Amino acid sequence: MDILQQMRTELSEKKLFDKARSFAYDYIDGIEKMDVFPSPENIKQLNVFNEPLSEKSGSTEEIMHLLHDVGSKATIAQLGGRYFGFVNGGAVPIALGVKWLSDVWDQCGGLFLTSPINSKLEQICEQWLKTIFNLPNETVAGFVSGTSMANLSGLAAARFRLLKNLGWDINIKGINGAPEIKIFAHEQVHASIKKTLAMLGFGNENISWIPSDDQGRLLIDKLPELDNHSLLILQAGNVNTGSFDDFHTICDQANKAGAWAHIDGAFGLWAAASKSLSYLTKGIEKASSWAVDGHKTLNTPYDPGIIMCKDSEALISALQASGEYITYSDQRDPLLYTPELSKRSRAIELWATMKYLGKEGMDTMITTFHNRAKQLAEGLSANGFIILNEVVFNQVLIACENDQQTKLVLHTVQNSSQCWCGGSRWKGKDVIRISICSWMTTKEDIEKTISIFTDAKNLIKN
Ligand SMILES: *Cc1c(COP(=O)(O)O)cnc(C)c1O
Repeated sequence: MDILQQMRTELSEKKLFDKARSFAYDYIDGIEKMDVFPSPENIKQLNVFNEPLSEKSGSTEEIMHLLHDVGSKATIAQLGGRYFGFVNGGAVPIALGVKWLSDVWDQCGGLFLTSPINSKLEQICEQWLKTIFNLPNETVAGFVSGTSMANLSGLAAARFRLLKNLGWDINIKGINGAPEIKIFAHEQVHASIKKTLAMLGFGNENISWIPSDDQGRLLIDKLPELDNHSLLILQAGNVNTGSFDDFHTICDQANKAGAWAHIDGAFGLWAAASKSLSYLTKGIEKASSWAVDGHKTLNTPYDPGIIMCKDSEALISALQASGEYITYSDQRDPLLYTPELSKRSRAIELWATMKYLGKEGMDTMITTFHNRAKQLAEGLSANGFIILNEVVFNQVLIACENDQQTKLVLHTVQNSSQCWCGGSRWKGKDVIRISICSWMTTKEDIEKTISIFTDAKNLIKN
């Protein structure tokens, strides 16, 4: 049987998919018991993948087994309740389910013509997101791979609009000799902002850093004079402390000056979906563009990121695509709002997540992250740890008596494989950073985490 015939048989027999399903079920059933971070032995096992590309075709059975037997053991337990690294988020079951289904559809999400269903669901998601975040009606959304791409898209729209208003069409004239754009960024910006600014032709030295307070909130009285050359970058959810800028006051100033304010709200923007936390996002609607992730706080699987922009012409022009073969329709064509042409139909799982949770479900989930974060901070504090941030959202910054102890505790906690969190630096200090952003995290997970930390500290003292 030749390979094409063989694939046809596999597709119709579906044994392969049954196998995938049963392996996936095994994984789900083991999630609460598995190491949160793989053991060194399991990582070493990955060497079995080191092999030259074979001449002959492989076996479905063998490939599936290799991935399950070796691959799954070298995953982090992101789906469980005690992975607190970065700001990764868990996955809502319905979203995993529809992602499986829509993976089989294999839709190219770029055009209405290549996927009417994706186009429709993007349109619905755009509407719903505007409701959740209370954004102006003219706002448009593009569905990208994450907040890095969303930041890139929003900042490209800003660059287009500011220059256009100054009589310079960047799409025609390019960056050389363009009027100066003044970039004002929060000194606490996420690394992706520096990266995307560099990609857009604004090097690090062109950025004026605005100082922030002890929580990483932009200091309003340090806000420079803005004008219509100014691009201002703000934060909803500082990656370390989870703090939010005062959008209300800052965006008013930006708007008065004709400046563009972009908000990086990768995980924090979702505070708007919690009744008790929505005060944190007050005034966001006054900005010009917003970047947010689905895969963090909303707990979609990877990878919906979203750029939302009040100025649809600027976004579309900045990401313009033309080509004889591209056929636009009178329906929504997703590629107008993203840097990519071909792309995953990622709005499908985003839509399913929002439809499933509804406003109440989102409120419950996001408010719970905050409550668990407070529980953790209180428990650790009662056991002699120093909590460096005001726990306004889902991030907790932890330190011990000195940097060396902090590092040792972090190392011990990481090696326990019972929970996982990362380190960071905060105001000149080594810190441990915890992000509560999985719906799976229970009160008991937090209690267990507190005892893992306390044991680690005691172990070091002895
Ligand atoms: C995670 C994060 C980003 C980058 O988002 P990706 O989805 O990883 O590309 C940007 N800003 C903040 C504040 C983040 O937390």
